Order: sequence, then C-alpha cells, then structure tokens
Amino acid sequence: MIYDVVIIGSGPAGYTAAIYCARAMLQPLMVTGEMVGGQLMKTTDVENFPGYSEGVTGPQMMEDLHKQAEHFGTTFKTTDVKSVDAGESTFRVRLVNNEEIEARSVIVATGANSLWLNAEGETPLQCNGISTCATCDGAFFKDEEIVVVGGGDSAMEEAVFLTRYASKVTIIHRRHQFRASKIMLDRARNTDKIAWKCGFAVTKWLAENGALRGAVLEDCDTHAREEIPCTGAFIAIGHKPNTSFIADTVRLDEDGYIVHEEHTMTSVPGIFACGDACASSTRYRQAITAAGEGCKAAMDCEKWLESSQ
Ligand code: NAP
Repeated sequence: MIYDVVIIGSGPAGYTAAIYCARAMLQPLMVTGEMVGGQLMKTTDVENFPGYSEGVTGPQMMEDLHKQAEHFGTTFKTTDVKSVDAGESTFRVRLVNNEEIEARSVIVATGANSLWLNAEGETPLQCNGISTCATCDGAFFKDEEIVVVGGGDSAMEEAVFLTRYASKVTIIHRRHQFRASKIMLDRARNTDKIAWKCGFAVTKWLAENGALRGAVLEDCDTHAREEIPCTGAFIAIGHKPNTSFIADTVRLDEDGYIVHEEHTMTSVPGIFACGDACASSTRYRQAITAAGEGCKAAMDCEKWLESSQ
C-alpha cells in the first residue's frame, strides 16, 4: 500500500496535521513515536490552549486530539522512525523494527525536547514544581519565590516574564559571562524583582511532601554549597530538536532545526515540517502555535499532492 501522507510525531502539530489531512480524505497514517503525545504528556495543567474554559491536563488534551484525529480517519503506528528516504516518486519511511512504509508525502512533526539539568531530586519534580516553560506554568507561582536556571536569552526572557507572578525571581547561571544578548540582559538587570546568583550550579533540588522547597547551589570556583529557598524553578538551558532521523534527508540549521524552503515545505519537495522541530518555532514553542503550523503543513501537503498528480 502507498499512503498519500505519513505524519511523523504525535504532539499538537502532528495531531492537527492529521485532523486536516483526514478531513481532506488523505487517509493519513501517523507514526506516533514511542512516547505518544510528546512533551505535553509530561505537562500537568494547560490553561492557554483555546477551547478548554477551565484548563486541561496535558495528557487529557493529547487524548482528545488523538480521538479527534482517529474519528476523522487517521490510523496509527506506535513506534519510532529510523529514517526517511526519497525514492523516484515516493518516500520510504523506515521504522525502528525495519518495517518500511511507502508514502507520496511526509509531514514531520517530531518536536523538540527541552533540556533538563538532571540535578539530584529533579525527576519527580519535573513539570510539578520544576518547569521548562514560563509561558505555560508561570501563573501557577503567584507571589512565590522562584528560580530560573540559565544565562541565555531564554533565561532572561523567562525571568522577566515570571516577575509578573512571582514575588522574587533568582537567575542562577554557572558563569559570570552571559550568552544572552545585551538588550535582554539589560532588561533583566533593570527588573527590580530579579536577583542573581552567577557562578553557581544547582546540584540538588529539595522537596517537602512532594513539593519543591529549595535548591542546593554550589559555587563553581570554591565548591562551597549553600541553600536557596524556592517553590518553583524554571530550567532555560536550551532545547534539542528531534530531527536526527531526517538529518541526511532535509536541510537543517546549525542547531538541528528543520528549515522551511517554501511555506511549510522542507528542502525536499513532498516532505513538510511543522511544530517545534522547525526553525520557525524557536521564538514561540507553544502548543497552539505548533497546532497552527500543523494545519498549515496539512494544507500545503494537500495542495502539493494535488499539483503533483
Ligand atoms: P542558549 O543561548 O544556548 O543558552 C543556554 C544557557 O544555558 C547558557 O547560558 C548555558 O550556559 C546554560 N546551560 C547550558 N547547559 C547547562 C547546564 N547543563 N547547566 C547549567 N547551565 C547550562 O539557549 P537559549 O537561551 O534557549 O537560546 C537559544 C536561541 O534562541 C538563542 O539563539 C537565543 O538568542 C534565541 N532566543 C531568542 C529570544 C528572543 O530574541 N526573544 C528568546 C529566547 C531565545 P553557558 O553560557 O555557560 O554555556
């Protein structure tokens, strides 16, 4: 069987692309990845995705999107993709078990993973006190003392944003020099509620009854340790796009994000990309912007299939 379209990835971008492709009668196959639902499966409350008047949990939202995609005719394979190769007129999507799927077009929606510190005590607090998205989770920390880890533009942006909610935001950065641009750094420096701990690394998160209560910091020069109280923490040390399986096929930027050539089409005609795996996403990284781009990719794909018949 040759599929009209195979969608790789099951976050908001992939599911939205699937819903649009299914409604366009393309009978899409979605290869979900081993971790169905992507990053949102690790998120507790989502309050900024339109349509949920009282908010929704990440896993519930992904289940709803899955059901919607299935209802309109998407079929699924729960596994990872090893590679995508362009043939004469079709693409070969090779799965990790070496099964091959043939398709006329491919939509890549594999997302990006936020990098975590992996300090002691971090795992049980991930997305439960320790977050990688201030826009998503900042509002849960009203009048609390929180920390932001990192010294790039993301850390500065998140710290400034978080001062809307928190009583105090401490930026913890392992060096005294910053990767952040001057304008972003100055903005953070000129924000009253922001305090600084430069030259310090978080070595351990402290919890009480399952809730974050502080962090152990180590001076990177003297190795002296101290504790800092905090009930929320935001890690802003970068992201890694899930694109290695397609790195030999489509053009990526220097950080590994997929580059669009025309609208949502990649450097290979017939392969489209949407969501956090794309260079276009790095400014936003929101479920709703990924979903919007999933819609665009499906529409571009449908038009391309029509014109290439
Ligand atoms: P980034 O520029 O790569 O900065 C990452 C920061 O995290 C660095 O300060 C790095 O420290 C630190 N870090 C990395 N690994 C660490 C670890 N294991 N422990 C402790 N600290 C660690 O990443 P980003 O801030 O996410 O920015 C990525 C790109 O997006 C940049 O090009 C940025 O300009 C752009 N961006 C732009 C905006 C905007 O214009 N509004 C907003 C956000 C991001 P070291 O410096 O010591 O390596």
